[in-house]
Amino acid sequence: MSPAGKPSQPPFAKKFRAGILGATGIVGQRLVQLLAEHPWFELTELAASERSSGKKYSEAVKWHLKEAIPAAATDLVVKMLEPTLDCDFVFSALDSSVAGPAEEAFASAGYPVVSNSKNHRMSPDVPLLIPEVNADHLDAIPTQQKNRGFGTGFIVTNPNCSTAGLVLVLKPLADAFGLERMFVVTMQAISGAGYPGVPSLDILGNVVPFISGEEEKMEEEPQKLLGKWDGSRFVEAGLGISAHCNRVPVENGHLECVSLSLKKIATLSEVREALRSFAVSDELAALPTAVRNPVIVLDEDNRPQPRRDVEAGHGMAAAVGRVRECPLLDVKLTLLSHNLLRGAAGAALLNAELLASRGFISRTRVASGETAQTQPVL
Ligand code: NAP
Repeated sequence: MSPAGKPSQPPFAKKFRAGILGATGIVGQRLVQLLAEHPWFELTELAASERSSGKKYSEAVKWHLKEAIPAAATDLVVKMLEPTLDCDFVFSALDSSVAGPAEEAFASAGYPVVSNSKNHRMSPDVPLLIPEVNADHLDAIPTQQKNRGFGTGFIVTNPNCSTAGLVLVLKPLADAFGLERMFVVTMQAISGAGYPGVPSLDILGNVVPFISGEEEKMEEEPQKLLGKWDGSRFVEAGLGISAHCNRVPVENGHLECVSLSLKKIATLSEVREALRSFAVSDELAALPTAVRNPVIVLDEDNRPQPRRDVEAGHGMAAAVGRVRECPLLDVKLTLLSHNLLRGAAGAALLNAELLASRGFISRTRVASGETAQTQPVL
């Protein structure tokens, strides 16, 4: 069974071997969990800091999830951050203080790197990817490999956790009506800050109206995601954005209040219909982690709510409610998405699935005793 609950036979003769850099962190743990029963990928390597390396994963990690550590990971020995891992590609869930050079070293050594970290997101030759939004940005990979002298390696990133759900909701509206300006206020869960994250005395019974670097990311990343790859560079969407970001005492799920002005006049029912009918192509729907309708529209006045709606679409959908007129701009709405699934581990997994299905990942890094190279048969 896939993470999205779909039975899914691998379209490959053999599973691809995945490594996780930063496997002990909050996002790394989610990746370990999602990969445990993945139909296309097999978890073979874990890496983290000197604090963790050399230990069994179960001894190195402070496990946060309700379910036990998957058996496939428990006894794996955590390795150092060196590009000699026995796997076909790596996920990076590294702290941003080390992710930049580490990801480049792995890509340079031939590993496809599927990253959660901020370091390369806005680089002019690195795709910032949400498959449902801008799958064609993968066309930048050969340019990146040429620019940087990479062979089979490359870096693909997913957006910041609050940007991920937001842009998923903006995409059908941009396609149907065009977007001019946006004002967004976030209420972001504490798990978005990693572990140990925000001290409990700062956040219990409180709201912190500052998340370092977050507003800048929310104002920059949608421009690239909703923009175009023109064959040599990314052309930004040119959307005016103002973001206010707040940390609130919620465990998982970022709630966002959005006001938008549209290029084309639209009624509220047209806006709701554009969101409700947003469906991915058959190519994307076939990916194990994908959901056919990644935006779920709720009609109740008091939804979405983190506790009730954060798992919408197995944590891979954005839940939208309160679509109504905005007296300042045109339309306003509230959206919610799971910061660790849609905004991090699930996003990276979906990116890796798209890369594998399009032939960007191969078994070129052959383990001892193996010689075959398995190409996708999609
Ligand atoms: P985290 O819980 O703090 O985990 C950080 C990971 O990086 C740990 O595995 C840690 O290993 C490793 N690490 C730290 N310093 C290292 C070093 N010097 N060498 C090697 N490994 C090192 O953070 P997180 O929340 O999982 O976030 C991981 C990345 O994803 C960050 O870049 C973050 O910005 C991004 N992200 C997070 C979210 C979210 O919702 N949390 C969403 C989107 C993107 P040790 O345990 O050995 O120290």
